[in-house]
Amino acid sequence: MIRLNHVSKIYHMGGEDIYALREASLRVRKGEFVSIVGPSGSGKSTMMNIIGCLDNSDEGEYLLDGESITNYSEKELAKVRNRKIGFVFQNFNLIPKMTAAQNVELPLIYQKLPSHERAERVKWALEQVKLYERREHLPAELSGGQQQRVAIARALAARPSLFLADEPTGALDSKTSREIMGIFKDLHEQGNTIVIITHDENVADEAERKIRIRDGQVSEVVES
Ligand code: ADP
Ligand code: ADP
Repeated sequence: MIRLNHVSKIYHMGGEDIYALREASLRVRKGEFVSIVGPSGSGKSTMMNIIGCLDNSDEGEYLLDGESITNYSEKELAKVRNRKIGFVFQNFNLIPKMTAAQNVELPLIYQKLPSHERAERVKWALEQVKLYERREHLPAELSGGQQQRVAIARALAARPSLFLADEPTGALDSKTSREIMGIFKDLHEQGNTIVIITHDENVADEAERKIRIRDGQVSEVVES
């Protein structure tokens, strides 16, 4: 599903080269549940941006779903991103003026799905995260954990090949964090491929495999 081969990302700051990633290589198979864990400054955001097709690397190769996207333009990256990746962010990124159901439906409108199919998928996705009865609520009327469940439903409804979650529990207390990780586990059991990026070891331990990064390099892979 994911193959990063010797990927480097270099920032130029005042005549100095900063390697945010240095020859990082990793592999995530279809259906795997993986966490990428590392301290602040280790290169997690940079890795997330590359895996999520938000940014290109400077060196090395990236294969997603067998497709080499190493030299894609910004427009081509956007196409791959919209077609294949379901993002979940720390701060949920819901649209405040839209109900839970409308938030989940929005990407499906962009995908130009017919309204009956959108309705079916919204219902199905909100049921998966056990929030269908709150479908008419606005984000502000939901708890943080519930908002994150809406965000997961939004990703799920678009049927992505890859769920990519950036600090998905970063804004939640530990009980709610476990609940959200439970939802990711359910999605994994249903065959979905999930990559979670986190600085939190407890969260990372919930995944099937833990990829540790340090100073822009993969330093360790731990099977759990
Ligand atoms: P993390 O998400 O693990 O905190 P980052 O990927 O944000 O790590 O950063 C990795 C390294 O690259 C850090 O040293 C950071 O300061 C540097 N870096 C990240 N983004 C930029 C940027 N846009 N310009 C310059 N340096 C950057
Ligand atoms: P995180 O909470 O994920 O560790 P960071 O504070 O590392 O976030 O980075 C937030 C954003 O700022 C990222 O998009 C990153 O690319 C950028 N960034 C990080 N470090 C620098 C830097 N030294 N100079 C410029 N931009 C940076």
